[in-house]
Amino acid sequence: MKTITIETPLVSECSVTECAYNLDSNCHARAITIGDGVHPSCDTFFDNRNLHTKAAVRMAGIGACKIEACKFNDDFECITENIRVGHSKDEISCLTFAPR
Ligand code: SF4
Ligand code: SF4
Repeated sequence: MKTITIETPLVSECSVTECAYNLDSNCHARAITIGDGVHPSCDTFFDNRNLHTKAAVRMAGIGACKIEACKFNDDFECITENIRVGHSKDEISCLTFAPR
């Protein structure tokens, strides 16, 4: 398998325990995507309460963010150091979002 090494901001906390990538309130996907172009939702959320990733050591990065309206977004990528994800109203969102 070919691999690449990239630097990304980290998901420092995620309270969405019903997501398959969540263990102990942390995200363990390799990288997540934030945003649907309008809302800063977690596009990688996978609703599966019965099956969770085994990758308890891996920390998730942010592969892409589609929320250009956030002040931490540059060229459709997140440039802050880390983000928190959780429930916000009826959505699962980047709680670090801040409007420009
Ligand atoms: S950040 Fe998204 S993909 Fe990761 S555990 Fe939370 S809801 Fe799931
Ligand atoms: S902080 Fe802003 S740019 Fe970074 S992932 Fe969240 S919404 Fe996107």
